Amino acid sequence: MDQAINGATARLLDGKTTAQAIKNDIAAAVALMQERGQRPPHLVAMLVGNHGASETYVASKVKSCGEVGFQSTLLRYPPAISEAELLGAVQAVNEDPGVDGLLVQLPLPDHISVEKVTERISPSKDVDGFHPVNIGRMAKGLPAFISATPFGILQLLERYQLPTAGKHCVVVGRSQIVGLPMSLLMGRNAYPGNCTVTLCHSKTPDIAELTRQADILIAALGKPGFITADMVKPGAVVIDVGLTRVDDATRKSGFALKGDVRFDEVAPRASYITPVPGGVGLMTIAALLQNTLLSAQKKVYG
Ligand code: NAP
Repeated sequence: MDQAINGATARLLDGKTTAQAIKNDIAAAVALMQERGQRPPHLVAMLVGNHGASETYVASKVKSCGEVGFQSTLLRYPPAISEAELLGAVQAVNEDPGVDGLLVQLPLPDHISVEKVTERISPSKDVDGFHPVNIGRMAKGLPAFISATPFGILQLLERYQLPTAGKHCVVVGRSQIVGLPMSLLMGRNAYPGNCTVTLCHSKTPDIAELTRQADILIAALGKPGFITADMVKPGAVVIDVGLTRVDDATRKSGFALKGDVRFDEVAPRASYITPVPGGVGLMTIAALLQNTLLSAQKKVYG
């Protein structure tokens, strides 16, 4: 699909169509498993409290499980649940042989350590790819669950057959779930990868000077509209991970989702660009489903 803007043309990296194609492949694999008498993959999601955005994200993950024939279970806990109780609940799911994947939706209340909860999830069920064992294995190039957002971005690049070897990839944002793993993956000796990578963060001086050198620019900082046209090299591939709720009285929900890239001004300069919504977010869910399927098929941890 092409996006004509002000007479110029950037090609859309269409997360909706690509995620659907991946989901179709997953559904076919699930049908095959069932034909062989195996149970379908089972994902458990844990939600603590009723954080608005988390409710939305978990609901779409559960809905997507249904679309591909997975079993899913949503376990809800009150915001006052103690850390020990939540760790116990995680342990119980770890030990349940009928579950292939477990995710604990973030953020958690302040009295619960995200690190402790993340480390309590069995690496072999950690389909979010947040456990240090999975991050370490990924860094070493060993089989691992790759964090869903970077995994989704890799697949978007792959499905559009975009060349990456020898390119300069600039990642803005170094979070453990997006920017850091993305930078490692784009620099690994594989496809997509083999880039020369620059990782920027809030202490990086003159970011525009660096982003202007990017053949592939990945914005993952959570600052709506941060990347402007003058920060982008003509012909660059631009991936917008940002997903920030901003007030919008014209919408029934009262908010709109904004990316980190000013789409309207950057698209005419880019060769390829992801929209928000309809880009990376949908790919993230498709990647989570893929990790769950890989877990059920014992393809990561045998
Ligand atoms: P995060 O944990 O808040 O990390 C943000 C990163 O951006 C940090 O490394 C921070 O630097 C850096 N940063 C902040 N302001 C900056 C600035 N002015 N210049 C340069 N770097 C700056 O965020 P996250 O979890 O990675 O998420 C980033 C965005 O992606 C958010 O909008 C989030 O909603 C979105 N997201 C989307 C998906 C999806 O499925 N589409 C999935 C996950 C996240 P420091 O390290 O120096 O603080």
